[in-house]
Amino acid sequence: MREKTATPRRRAEELREALHEANYRYYVLDMPTISDAEYDALLRELQELEEAHPELVTPDSPTQRVGAAPLETFAPFPHRRQMISLGNAFSEQELRAFDGRVRKLAAGRSFVYTVELKIDGLAIALHYRDGAFERGGTRGDGRTGEEITANLRTVRSIPLHLRGEVPAFLEVRGEVYLKLSDFERINERRAKDGEPLFANPRNAAAGAVRQLDSSITARRPLSFWAYQLAESDPPLDIATQREALEQCGAWGFPVNPNIRRLDDIDAVVTFCNAWEGRREELDYEIDGVVVKVDDLALEEAMGAAGREPRWAIAYKFKPREAYTKLLDIGVQVGRTGALTPVAILEPVVVGGVTVRNATLHNEEEIARKDVRVGDVVIVRRAGDVIPEIVGPVKERRHGKLAPLFRIPAHCPVCHAAVDRPEGEVVYRCTNASCPAQLKERIRHFCSRGAMDIEGVGEQLAGQLVDRGLVHDIADLFALTREQLADLERMGEKSAQNALNAREKAKGRPLWRLLNGLSIRFVGSQNAQVLGEAFGEMETLERAGVEELTGVPGIGPKIGQSVWLFFQQPQNRQLIARLNGAGLRMSQPRREIPATSAVAGKTFVLTGTLPNLTREEATAKIVAAGGKVSGSVSKKTDYVVAGEEPGTKLTKAQELGVAVIDEAELRKLLA
Ligand code: NAD
Repeated sequence: MREKTATPRRRAEELREALHEANYRYYVLDMPTISDAEYDALLRELQELEEAHPELVTPDSPTQRVGAAPLETFAPFPHRRQMISLGNAFSEQELRAFDGRVRKLAAGRSFVYTVELKIDGLAIALHYRDGAFERGGTRGDGRTGEEITANLRTVRSIPLHLRGEVPAFLEVRGEVYLKLSDFERINERRAKDGEPLFANPRNAAAGAVRQLDSSITARRPLSFWAYQLAESDPPLDIATQREALEQCGAWGFPVNPNIRRLDDIDAVVTFCNAWEGRREELDYEIDGVVVKVDDLALEEAMGAAGREPRWAIAYKFKPREAYTKLLDIGVQVGRTGALTPVAILEPVVVGGVTVRNATLHNEEEIARKDVRVGDVVIVRRAGDVIPEIVGPVKERRHGKLAPLFRIPAHCPVCHAAVDRPEGEVVYRCTNASCPAQLKERIRHFCSRGAMDIEGVGEQLAGQLVDRGLVHDIADLFALTREQLADLERMGEKSAQNALNAREKAKGRPLWRLLNGLSIRFVGSQNAQVLGEAFGEMETLERAGVEELTGVPGIGPKIGQSVWLFFQQPQNRQLIARLNGAGLRMSQPRREIPATSAVAGKTFVLTGTLPNLTREEATAKIVAAGGKVSGSVSKKTDYVVAGEEPGTKLTKAQELGVAVIDEAELRKLLA
């Protein structure tokens, strides 16, 4: 996109051209090359420009039309009533401005809102004659779509016959989408077959629906949700959007359960904010909330302005994906020496946070995705998860292609040899006193989940190692106030704070210390199990492999690793020095009854449980000797599923893992 120095007319032309191109790639090719946020920004700029200079509006401007013209390879699907788009609100303020406009239009008539999740798929229209599915089409440019009846017949959740009493003719609109679990499976298969991966479920769904060969559509398990009763002949006595959706449900259409009727805009704002935080829980992508006036007669009276209805708006969440440039690939050394390639990015805002780095996982992953330095890449940040690179936008490659990235043969920090144990994907630095590993171990030792020494983060840990003040974690307890105060960005006060925090940490229970030691396979949960089982560091140090694996939940891999750790003389010395520094080396023991149905079992939680929060459920399971894991595998014993379970439930069903509800969990715990 060129700079904004041109005259308004020139700029409007540029914007129209860019938007036409983007529309074509998005709606026709199902292969966008700019992000939705970039697209939205261009569209908004054009809207504002046209508002200020109405003489610049052309009939074919992207502000006046939705989508793109249908492809000629499909039969045309003329819409009986135009299929329009939705206006967007990107903030609470814009949502409230919408409410203001609606109330003005309602001119004193009272009304409520219906709010629905905005499913990120593609809009379709379905025609039913005497209750039987007749024809279906895409939105196209709003007036004419593409007829895709044969493809839609392969979508199992689109009913072919409706239930109950049905008018002679019916048009229902809704969204065709791909569940995340199905999307992942499709991409796994494509990776195996060496085919290019889909960037997101929306593109994969759109590509599947707009296939000339419906057997290809049938191989991509699409789903459907109805959200509008567009027409019925004879007309039905239905007054509100909410009733219309209930009627659709009664006929047998799938209707999303997360629909609410809300009295005012305050409640709408609360609903939008709540779902922005909860979107990760769902097995499908949503990109916002659609807010509609519930009263259908009022909707009709309000009508539309151009491509957008006046009675509805889409509140858009902060995008989780952005496009940016991959400047370089660095290598990070973890606390166990693992080398992880890290993307160094041109800073970009994703989900409201500026992202500069993203993980690239490992060398194989980079090759699989074919990511090269210099590429424009898609960065994704979901919830609190570390940002990752989805893949390159190959269409935006210019010039010479950089070679594929390889992990170096020597550690980038200490230059020791790098080793990749057979059968593993991870390369490791072989030098146990590598400063990069040490920094990470110190940072972890002081982190919240371990010894919780406030103020010792990456920055401080780095300085302590670089200045040679700390060679292992025991050295932390020998640091003086003067040494600390002398460090960059520290002063007398912060030095004293650090000393106070260190003093407080000395009294923490044994399991926190165990977690902080960076023993392989011992994270906070295993540390808790070991701490409770042995109670004293000394007993644990002396324990044999058999004794260790006798503890419910401690398998041979963990047992072996703990035993090995305590066999090393330097580790025993380290613990002796920590003991000498006054650290508490014990905690209350707790016998887990060997008969407990939960002891040694691994649980995964998904969805919202009726009474327990996730933290409460986890605490109860851990207290009974069980473990809670974040992902489902063959080793999972139970998946506890609540309302709106996510991909974990599907995975459990695939692997044949037992799925229980809260009541059954309580029985196991009892
Ligand atoms: P939209 O996606 O902003 O909103 C309208 C659509 O929302 C409807 O057509 C329908 O498909 C969908 N929807 C989902 N749940 C719904 C519900 N419960 N009720 C009503 N509708 C619901 O508008 P659009 O015109 O489909 O697409 C425009 C958007 O597409 C842009 O804002 C941009 O994000 C994206 N886009 C991106 C590119 C690109 O190059 N990246 C190009 C074109 C469009």
